[in-house]
Order: sequence, then C-alpha cells, then structure tokens
Amino acid sequence: MYGPSEFEGGVFSDEIDGGRASATIELSTSGMVALTSTGQRFGILYRDCQLDIGGASGRMVFCRTPDRKLTIFCEDRRFPAALDMESGGELAEQLSSVRGQRLSEGIRWRMWLLGMAIVSVLCLIGGYYALIAVAKASIVAVPVSVDTKIGKLALESLELEGTRVTDKVVVDAVQEMVSRLEPHSELKGLTFEVRVMDSPEVNAFCLPGGKMVVYTGLLKKAKTAEQVAGVLSHEMAHAIKRHGLQRITESLGIVVAIELMIGDVGGLVAIGVELGKSAALTSYSRELETEADIVGVQLLHAAAIDPLELAGFFEMLKDEGDDLPAAMRWLSTHPEHEARIATVRGALAKLGAQQYRPLDIDWDDVQQHLNPLKDDK
Ligand SMILES: [Zn+2]
Repeated sequence: MYGPSEFEGGVFSDEIDGGRASATIELSTSGMVALTSTGQRFGILYRDCQLDIGGASGRMVFCRTPDRKLTIFCEDRRFPAALDMESGGELAEQLSSVRGQRLSEGIRWRMWLLGMAIVSVLCLIGGYYALIAVAKASIVAVPVSVDTKIGKLALESLELEGTRVTDKVVVDAVQEMVSRLEPHSELKGLTFEVRVMDSPEVNAFCLPGGKMVVYTGLLKKAKTAEQVAGVLSHEMAHAIKRHGLQRITESLGIVVAIELMIGDVGGLVAIGVELGKSAALTSYSRELETEADIVGVQLLHAAAIDPLELAGFFEMLKDEGDDLPAAMRWLSTHPEHEARIATVRGALAKLGAQQYRPLDIDWDDVQQHLNPLKDDK
C-alpha cells in the first residue's frame, strides 16, 4: 500500500487571479482533482494528462491538459508512485520517461556541484600559487638590509664545525677570490665576508646578505685557487639572487608571502634565523641550484676567472666517486655533476670572449699553510 492519495501542490490556470494558486491534489482512479486555496476546483483525466518534470529541485511533476491551459503540479516525492497506482498503469509509460528525466536531472545537478567544487579548489590552489609568485616577485622590493640582518643573525646562531682560521695567507687568499668576484654582483648593497673554518668538511656556503663560510676541507681538496673561486662564485650567486628569501617564502607559504607583500619584514627575519639554524637556508631546490651555477659562471666570466675551473672542481669530485668521505657536504647538497658540468658549459657558451687572468694567489703556499693547521690539532 502507498500513502494517502492527497497531496500538497498547486495549479496554473488563467481562471485563477494571478494565474497560480496552491492546492490540495486528490487522486482518483480516473483522474486528479485540485482544490485551490482560492476555493476553485480543477480536474484533469489521466487519459488527457501530459506529464513533465522540472522546477528548481528537478522534482516537480507537472500534469498538463493537451491545450496547456491547465497545469496541476506537485513536488511530493511519493506523488509519481501514487499517480502510477491510482491510474492503474495508464500513465506508466509517461511516468517512466519522467523518472528517467528526473534521474538525469539529478545526475546533471550533482555533476554541476562537483564541477563547482573542483573549480573552487582550483581557484584556491591557483590563488595560493599566484600569491606565492607575487611574494617571490616582491622580494625585489624588500631592502637588501633585510638579507644582511637575516644572514648576520643566522651566522650567530649557527654552530660551525671546527675553529676559525686566522692564518693570514689562507684568509687573504680566500678574501682575494671574493674581492675579484664582488664588484660584478648585479645586486648592489651586499657585502661579502668570508670566514674560514678548520674542519675536514668539504663545504662552503653563503648566507643571505653575503656572509660566507668555507671549510679547510674544501680548500685542501681544490687543485687550484680558481676552483675554489668557482665554488665561491656559485655560493655568492645564491645571495645575489636572494635564494634565501625565496626559500623562506616557499617554506613558510602564505603568511610570510602576505607579510612580504605588506612589507612587514620583522617576522621574516625571525623565520630566516630559525631556518638558518637548521641549514634549510642553504639547501635549495634543483632549479635554484641551476640558477646559482649559471649566475656563478657569469660572475667568474665578468671577473676574468675561467669558469671551466668550476666544472673542473665537479670533474674532480666526480672522479673521486665512491671514495668520497662522508664529510663532503657540499657534494651531497649539490648532486648531479654531469648535469652541472653541462650547465656550466652551456652558460659559458652564451657569454662573449674574455681574457682570463689567474688569481693573484700562490696556491702551493696556501696549501703549505693549510697542512700544519691539521697537525696542530
Ligand atoms: Zn648551491
């Protein structure tokens, strides 16, 4: 058995003031009768009834006369089944097509909702990346003094390996390399300062603002002063292209991105210092490493130091292969030598002719001064 054969619905007719009224619909075995709230009665015989579906919900069933002057409608979920039952199968065919229509309406509605949900999510993601992109672009507007401040505080909070080297021959040699490269920096306002640490680590890094650290392990490994200058040019390029700030923007996302855009750099400095402690400030994406290689080559070229020396350093590291000590940190954060050698050569091919001059450094003498350092310990 089905429920009551009385349903709440409505009527469209020119005979009603305003053309429309709510009504109570009663189903009998021959047809339906609607008693409107205005007190009028309207009836449609099943044999004259033309069914249709629609409404905002897609659930509204319309029963129309052939001349379409009268329409009785009902949104009750039980209405179609009751109609089928009362009409004794007379409307079965029309009802099944209405049901199919309702199903496809439902599917369409759900598809639309799903589509809207996907579009909304995409807009959010797109907006997020757009915001990050804007933040990265607005790094240009952040004063270089912010980089300097981040670098200074980060260096103070870092626990560096080994003791600081004060040997004048060693320190002056490294400073000479930096002095040759520094005037060719495209970012003005940076002050490059190098600190040499006595440790077997084959590593060097540059913090935002230009504070650099080089370990004696790397100096001892290098066959020429120009190879070290090659590594330093790459590290300086990270500071020149402000990769530290980009790194901060990437890691900390939206909040920092917004801070950057509104020019609040206080939080940025605090975050940079935290990142600096975890060395996250000096480990970059492959994309940024490649950019540092290219800018490093440009820097070397402009400073009249043969950029192929950098490739030579990679070659040397590559040849050592599996014998590399675990302490070769620079290598582990800068993998893929073959690709990097290719990047160096590619970047060099784009540059004009240049008369390379050797660095004014007695590399053998530097090596002499490096070795006793090891014996002292
Ligand atoms: Zn790097």
